[in-house]
Amino acid sequence: MAVLSIVLPAYNEKENIRNTVKVLSELLSENKIQYELIFISDGSGDGTFGEIQKAAQEDSNIIGAEFSRNFGKEAAIFAGLEMAGGDAVIVMDCDLQHPPEVIPKMWKLWQEGAEVVEGIKSHRGKERIGYKLSAGLFYKVMSKLIKLDMNSSSDFKLLDRKVVDVLLSLPERNTFFRALSFWAGFHTVPVYYEVRERQFGRSKWSFFSLMKYAVTNVTSFSTLPLQMVTVMGVISILFSVILFIQTLAKFLSGTAVEGFTTVILLILIIGGFLMLSLGIIGHYLARIYEEVKGRPKYIISKVTDNVRGEVIGAWKRGRARE
Ligand code: UDP
Ligand code: MG
Repeated sequence: MAVLSIVLPAYNEKENIRNTVKVLSELLSENKIQYELIFISDGSGDGTFGEIQKAAQEDSNIIGAEFSRNFGKEAAIFAGLEMAGGDAVIVMDCDLQHPPEVIPKMWKLWQEGAEVVEGIKSHRGKERIGYKLSAGLFYKVMSKLIKLDMNSSSDFKLLDRKVVDVLLSLPERNTFFRALSFWAGFHTVPVYYEVRERQFGRSKWSFFSLMKYAVTNVTSFSTLPLQMVTVMGVISILFSVILFIQTLAKFLSGTAVEGFTTVILLILIIGGFLMLSLGIIGHYLARIYEEVKGRPKYIISKVTDNVRGEVIGAWKRGRARE
């Protein structure tokens, strides 16, 4: 019988674990789906892993791991994928903002032959205005750069075993799960859902962490910012040609004394362009530097004791099969 793995990244979600386990296991048993729940505590400092351990002791369908520190949601997702043993894997938030009722639908679509079932947000729940502004801007930029509608796409999706294996075989460290399943292709079917409000705890995203996420993801998925450097260069050259001719004409006609303002403005503009360009190049350099170092995406410090033996070995290395 086919097994469904559900991967749940959890960062300081102590209050949510018990409820999430209850809701999911009831729902899955009702629908007669054989399942395993995989909780990855992303270096939580509030005892989230203790809750996971408790749940794992009560129910052998539950396994979990704790990171040695906070590595971010992407890393937690990949650790979960690495650990999943199911024929299909669903990734969802453990605060139940991704409505569990969608799971049986996803499962059915998978049984009917879908290889990727994309959860598409039809409504983004209630969010703080600051978040709305920053997320809105972020998603607009992202959508343009990676040609994927970021406003409605989410990390809530079902992947067939084949697709999971493809994602795990990618050597890159700076992954962007949401876009990678699009990139990988496969027979994809959408499923629409409404984002729920959070019951316990609060969102982990601040304005700055969201901006950092944006920049990292843009640079890991697109080289367009680098090409923009060239465009800025071309624009400056065009301007310089015009100014060159004007300055030369003034010099030749003997009226070339004032113009101090122009000099200051030029220095400011060119200086700005140069620093921005250096920054963009520097960012890509940093990405390359990180990839080249080849450090693992995450480090696992603890696992629940009912984890399958052969998985832990592959898993501790924190990388896809080496
Ligand atoms: N999360 C994580 N590591 C982090 C931040 C968040 O594993 O560094 C998890 C978090 O526990 C939750 C999911 O990612 O299960 C989504 O996070 P959150 O609810 O804070 O984001 P939002 O729903 O507001 O987008
Ligand atoms: Mg949430």
